[in-house]
Amino acid sequence: MPTAMNKINLFWFRRDLRLNDNHGFYQALESDHPVLCLFIFDNNILDELPRDDARVTFIYQELERLKTELNSHGGDLIVKYGSPIEVWESLLTEYEVAEVFTNHDYEPYAKARDRQVETLLLQQGVGFNTFKDHVIYEKEEIQKKAGGIYTVFTPYKRTWLEKFKVEYAKFLQSGSPASMFPSEDSLGNLENVAKSQTMISLKDMDFEESDIPIPEKTTSQKTIKNYNANRNFPALKQGTSRLGIHFRFGTISIRSKAIKAFHLSEVYLSELIWRDFYSQILANHPQVIGNAYRPKYDRIEWRDDKPAFDKWKEGKTGYPLVDAGMREIKETGHMHNRVRMVVASFLTKHLLIDWRWGEAYFAERLLDFDLASNNGGWQWAAGTGTDAAPYFRIFNPESQLKKFDSKLEYVKKWVPEYGTERYPDPIVDHKMARERCLATYKDALNDE
Ligand code: FAD
Repeated sequence: MPTAMNKINLFWFRRDLRLNDNHGFYQALESDHPVLCLFIFDNNILDELPRDDARVTFIYQELERLKTELNSHGGDLIVKYGSPIEVWESLLTEYEVAEVFTNHDYEPYAKARDRQVETLLLQQGVGFNTFKDHVIYEKEEIQKKAGGIYTVFTPYKRTWLEKFKVEYAKFLQSGSPASMFPSEDSLGNLENVAKSQTMISLKDMDFEESDIPIPEKTTSQKTIKNYNANRNFPALKQGTSRLGIHFRFGTISIRSKAIKAFHLSEVYLSELIWRDFYSQILANHPQVIGNAYRPKYDRIEWRDDKPAFDKWKEGKTGYPLVDAGMREIKETGHMHNRVRMVVASFLTKHLLIDWRWGEAYFAERLLDFDLASNNGGWQWAAGTGTDAAPYFRIFNPESQLKKFDSKLEYVKKWVPEYGTERYPDPIVDHKMARERCLATYKDALNDE
């Protein structure tokens, strides 16, 4: 048994899989005890996933990398599999823990889990220290002058930028990334006292390795500089950064990227602000999961049309831009933002299918799936959310195609049979669908 002499602190990795500029990890290293690191594969989450889920493979490989990196500094990572509360109960019998350090998570499930773990730790006299890391500004940090949080993006962004310029002035002037890089000295505080040295395998957790490629962790300055001009054209290879999965799992630091974006592209920075915006909506209005942000939109009578939903998922709607996007997501786990907007609008407005069905399908497939941004994107497209597109603005998938893929490069890549007899006729007529949508929304909202 460990003695009080060899008490340790534990740093618990979750959506922050990196050592550099990781707030909670940095604070743990500055603490008074040697630091051992931990990751828990949570079976409550994993049980719901397909056995070849690409995100599980990605996390697994990133953990192997982290473990090697920690080993090279004399530390270690213990990787557990199970229900977090049970894992913690067992850890507290294995190790003499002084304090636990971790970063905030804003999802309802994670918040409940953390409350439960915190209660257990406090009962045993173990401190639970949590930090902001995943976003620049969290929860209620961006406030209206008169108080209260924003639900409209433009004024939120204005206040966000004012605060950012003041608080990050030093880094913005120097152009260097934010400061939480552990020093060699503090890395000396890592401890290799793990009881089991080998990491659980994917197979032990009943998963197989996925062969879906993961986008790189870096993007060129050119991509960010030209972001505004290129970001709407899905055929361009480097029109957007493709960093989504890395922001999601914290394999890159949002602070570092926001500071770089500030110098290179206002529009790119604005996208990162959208990410903060949806995160604070989820933190402050958790009811957006499962419910329209604007309650009266839950009166809409969605069509219970499973065959049409399946055609949408398979990319067989007869609308080439929609079909290209749906085939891209199925094969790669990625879909370009412009196309996400078009397919989401098509599902909710042309097919009048509940946005929650689309949201759930994206959650299953997207490498960069993030509860807050995905919910925000779907409620935006359906017109039910904060700052949503008004319901009467209905994307015309044909004009979107002409504008953003006029040479059909993206479409031809994903729908090779387009233009041949094998390509299906549209499953729904645009004009009829538009009118049906307007009538249905109007009926539901009847006072608008
Ligand atoms: P870039 O265009 O290079 O943008 C850089 C980063 O900014 C992104 O990686 C992301 O972290 C952030 N970002 C960009 N646009 C948005 C946005 N509108 N809202 C919030 N953050 C944004 N984004 C997710 O990260 N996870 C999701 O699950 C998700 N689901 C979406 C669902 C729908 C219906 C829609 C319309 C959008 C969704 N988005 C989601 C937002 C956006 O489509 C993706 O962030 C983007 O396409 C990811 O590609 P990228 O990394 O090349 O992004």
